[in-house]
Amino acid sequence: MAYTVPKLKDFSAAALDKAAEKLLAALERESAEITAEADWKTFRDRWMARKNGVLTQLNDLWLKAAPKDAKRDVGQKVNELKRQVEDAIEAAQKKSGGAPLSRLESDRVDISLPGIPRKIGAEHPVIKTMNEIVSVFRNLGYSVQEGPVVETDYYNFEALNFPLNHPARDTQDTLFIAGQESKPQSERLLLRTHTSPVQIRTMEKIKPPIRIVIPGKVHRNDPPDASHSPMFHQVEGLAVDTNITFGDLKGTLDHAMKALFGSSVKTHFRPSFFPFTEPSAEMMVSCFICGGSGRRGSEGCRPCKQTGWIEILGCGMVDPNVFEFVKDNGYDSRKVSGFAFGMGPDRIALLKYGVDDLQLFFQNDIRFLRQFA
Ligand SMILES: [Zn+2]
Repeated sequence: MAYTVPKLKDFSAAALDKAAEKLLAALERESAEITAEADWKTFRDRWMARKNGVLTQLNDLWLKAAPKDAKRDVGQKVNELKRQVEDAIEAAQKKSGGAPLSRLESDRVDISLPGIPRKIGAEHPVIKTMNEIVSVFRNLGYSVQEGPVVETDYYNFEALNFPLNHPARDTQDTLFIAGQESKPQSERLLLRTHTSPVQIRTMEKIKPPIRIVIPGKVHRNDPPDASHSPMFHQVEGLAVDTNITFGDLKGTLDHAMKALFGSSVKTHFRPSFFPFTEPSAEMMVSCFICGGSGRRGSEGCRPCKQTGWIEILGCGMVDPNVFEFVKDNGYDSRKVSGFAFGMGPDRIALLKYGVDDLQLFFQNDIRFLRQFA
């Protein structure tokens, strides 16, 4: 029969000892029967439960019921029994293999399980190419500058010496923001057609000398095909200082091409025209696919159209008219000169990775992109 706390009539020391003995015998008997964690929980609740547990009954039936002159001795006895009960419960818990607290049990994490692998991705081939170009110029001491993709007519055209009737301003080429007609021409918004507005924005902020490289996204109203896209990328550079000559331009770009495509490539300049540079040039590099021979085995080299040369960038000496727009910040064309250049990393990535369709770069097909990871 299960142990129940008896009411005491006699609160003498001898009677207390006898009652305590019976209680401890019951405690020992019940704890000996525990084999599983569930048994232990029942045991714990029976002895410790706030409502009607054995310890609570001891308090009510022995301590509270004790006459005044016996209270002190009964209190000591009850406290002693409490400790013994608590010790027994703790010992029984270890024996049953239970966790110290049931909440910890449900929160338990199995740290021996393997983790969940997360794929971290890789650089897009175009971004990778841009970063490579930028780092070549960073190593030459150029700093990186960026600017807004939505530009004003002033920064995109006017301050870069594009006359009002220049064909590049035509809606065939430029994507204009709608509803700008009420503004003066120079404040009308458009999607920048080149990264060159950042040249003006930087020269407004920083006095000469400057050396900057400008990577970024540009837009033109070109229908997408294998070599065109309405959105593409540019990396452009600008150096302004006293006594900058065309020789500095050639030396800098020749070095950059060797850093990008290998030390054996040759560079070649031929005259060209850009509104913001004078004189202007197109630069070719010897084909890094066929080594400049124009042939690959018995076949002609497609990327260089069998010429052995690939047109890679536009460049030139900054037109004094451009400096006029920033002359208040120290760009006096009689004292400073500079060169600028710009190239298309999308096209360079096409050549470098032997991809024959520009659209593949922008379709985000993971099967295609994974090859460059
Ligand atoms: Zn070639």
